[in-house]
Amino acid sequence: MTANAASRLIQHYVDNFRRLPWRSSPGSPAAGPYRVWLSEVMLQQTTVAAVVPRFQRFIGRWPTIEALAEARDEDILSEWAGLGYYARARNLIACAREIARRGRFPTTAAELRQLPGIGAYTAAAIAAIAFGEKAAAVDTNVERVFARLDGMTQVRRSQIGSRLVDFMDGQQPGDVIQALMDLGASVCRPRQPRCDACPLSADCAAFASGEPERFPARREHKARPHRYGTAWWIERDGHVWLVRRPETGLLGGMLALPGGDWVDADMAADMRLGTVRHVFTHFSLDLAVEVRTEPVGEGSWHPIARLRDAGLPTLYRRAAEVALKRPREARAAA
Ligand code: SF4
Repeated sequence: MTANAASRLIQHYVDNFRRLPWRSSPGSPAAGPYRVWLSEVMLQQTTVAAVVPRFQRFIGRWPTIEALAEARDEDILSEWAGLGYYARARNLIACAREIARRGRFPTTAAELRQLPGIGAYTAAAIAAIAFGEKAAAVDTNVERVFARLDGMTQVRRSQIGSRLVDFMDGQQPGDVIQALMDLGASVCRPRQPRCDACPLSADCAAFASGEPERFPARREHKARPHRYGTAWWIERDGHVWLVRRPETGLLGGMLALPGGDWVDADMAADMRLGTVRHVFTHFSLDLAVEVRTEPVGEGSWHPIARLRDAGLPTLYRRAAEVALKRPREARAAA
C-alpha cells in the first residue's frame, strides 16, 4: 500500500463528498453526537435517500436529545412509521432517555456500546465521527473497499478493522470513515465498481486482478420462509378500528389493524378485500384483509380521512389502502 493512500482518499472525499443533513463538511468541526447517532440508527437497513427527508422532519420536531427524551412514545413511533425495523425506534426512545438521565452523551466507543440499541458498529461510528476517536466502524461499504484493496475473497473483519484504524493515522477519523462510506456507495459499488474514478486503484489487489467484482465472494442467501396472516377492517361512521401491537416482537408498539396470528398456512376466508405481500428480514408475509363488523381487542376509532397521519407502519398502511380501494358498500358487505 503506498504511503499516501489515505491522503488521496481524503482529497477525493473533499472533492466529491455527499452533502447530508447530519454531516459537517470535511475538515470542519464534527457534527454533534445527537445528529450522528440519529442518522446512524435511521440508516441501519434503510437507504440514504429514504432517510434524508425523515431525518429532517425528526430533527425539526425534536432538535435536541433532551426534547426527544421528553416526547411521548406514541409520537416518536408514529414519526418513525414507514421506516421499518421498529425495534430501532423503541431502542431510540430508551437510549435518548438514558442519555438525558446521564446529562451528557458518552464520548468513547466503549461507553456508547453500553447504551440501548447501540451495537459495536454504531458506537464506533459515533465515537469516530462526533468525537474523533480512532474507532473501527466497519459497515458493509467499508468492508467491501478493504476486502478489495487486500484481495480478500472471505471477509476478515478484524483485519479490516486494523486497516481502517491505520488509515486514520494523521487524518480526522470521522473524515476517513465518511470518505470510505462514500467511496463504497458511489465508486467501489458492489456491482460494476468505477475503478477508473477511484483514488485507491494503484493500491488495489482486486483492481489488479482484472475482476474486482469477485471480491469479496458473495454470501449465499437462505430462502425466506413464507407466512400468512389476516388483518380485520372494522369500519363505522367514517372511522376504522385500530389497535396497538404488543410492545415486544415485530412492529412492537406500532398502531395496526387488528388481526390473527401469522402462521405457516393460508387460513384466511374467501371473502377477503384483498391481500398485501410484505417482505421482512427473515420471512415474507401474505396479509389478507377481511371485513369484520365489531371492534376486536383494545383499540380506538380513527377517522378514515386522517388515516395517512395516524402513523401506521407500511404493512398496515398498505392493508388499509387495499380496503379503501373498494367502495364503502363493498367494504361493509364483503
Ligand atoms: Fe474498489 Fe476498484 Fe477502487 Fe479497488 S480500484 S477500491 S475495486 S473501486
